[in-house]
Amino acid sequence: MPADEAAEALIAAAAAVRAHAYAPYSRLSLGAAIRAEDGRVYAGANVENASYPEGLCAEAAAIAAMIAGGARRIAAIAVVGPGPDPAPPCGGCRQRIAEFAGPATPVHLATESGARRTVTLGELLPLAFGTAHLP
Ligand code: ZN
Repeated sequence: MPADEAAEALIAAAAAVRAHAYAPYSRLSLGAAIRAEDGRVYAGANVENASYPEGLCAEAAAIAAMIAGGARRIAAIAVVGPGPDPAPPCGGCRQRIAEFAGPATPVHLATESGARRTVTLGELLPLAFGTAHLP
């Protein structure tokens, strides 16, 4: 599959799961989809909570689905939200993605209205903390 088609397929998966987001408080529905090293796609949507800090980001939900599915490495990830500008992963999710991806991993940011931007994880999270910093 050509790279553009692969990115669009991942974006479509993120857009589809976005419809299931539980976001009654912020009304910001987000979907994320990961293509893992096994070629399979794992998706997740944000899950808010009346106790706001207990909410879960879409990226974290997608990572949990990937781990539950038996995969361990992110080959690419897409995040889809409302327009006009694509929403990048929050700081915490950049770190979560970095646990399972490398600096060159593509992060496709998209809106359902058609905006697209692809960056690398290294661009989103330079000087990432990782296992090399652990004793
Ligand atoms: Zn997040």
